[in-house]
Amino acid sequence: LEDRLIHSERLASIGRLAAGVAHEIGNPVTGIACLAQNLREEREGDAEIIETSQQIIEQTKRITRIVQSLMSFAHAGGRQQASEPVCLAEVAREAISLLSLNRDYDVQYFNLCDPQHWIEGDPQRLAQVLINLLSNARDASPPGGAIRVRTEASEQTIELTVEDEGSGIPKSIVDRLFEPFFTTKDPGKGTGLGLALVYSIIEEHYGLITIDSPADPQRQLGTRIRITLPRYGGPTAPENP
Ligand code: ADP
Repeated sequence: LEDRLIHSERLASIGRLAAGVAHEIGNPVTGIACLAQNLREEREGDAEIIETSQQIIEQTKRITRIVQSLMSFAHAGGRQQASEPVCLAEVAREAISLLSLNRDYDVQYFNLCDPQHWIEGDPQRLAQVLINLLSNARDASPPGGAIRVRTEASEQTIELTVEDEGSGIPKSIVDRLFEPFFTTKDPGKGTGLGLALVYSIIEEHYGLITIDSPADPQRQLGTRIRITLPRYGGPTAPENP
């Protein structure tokens, strides 16, 4: 418990710092991108200038991406969270379609239509959880790889599982996965904030998260992330997902 408290406290203070930094960085970066764009237009005939200003623009896009994920990370620690009945299965379906996962991967659903699978929370932030988990599964998977999403209800809880058959997670880094800024992805692709954000959102929803990797120990393959959340306990369960 103490570890978890220290972890949350750290996340919260990193969140506050991040919000400040992201805010300050946003404007000058936009300025740099505009200047590079002007330069490009003014020196249309100069291939070297065009090439360099294009690189500047690409790099500013990269900074903007990092700043945006910092902002969403920071807001998780600050914004008043909505609390309403949320159909987890619906949130999962929306995230899959937002990422167009069906196009390049073999997405398999289990129980994703069950109207009983409601929890109480903030739909936007829960969507962020699914988006982060599914983009990690996608990044670890070969094209056409299987990505399985499942929700399951027990008396008190709903369990959500996201499973892939991708590269898996080496034992040596398992302890660092929830650490902000920890990433093994190429710079520009990963910010290392995805799982840290997942962790704090799930914690706010009184949930638990477990990572099994390899998901299939026999084949030494893939990753399975399990999230357990308290089931919606309102007076009457909503009827229409
Ligand atoms: P990012 O995706 O920006 O790297 P995350 O916090 O979401 O940040 O993930 C941290 C690291 O955890 C990733 O860089 C990757 O090494 C590892 N990881 C997370 N999910 C998976 C997965 N499904 N399969 C393999 N590795 C994963």
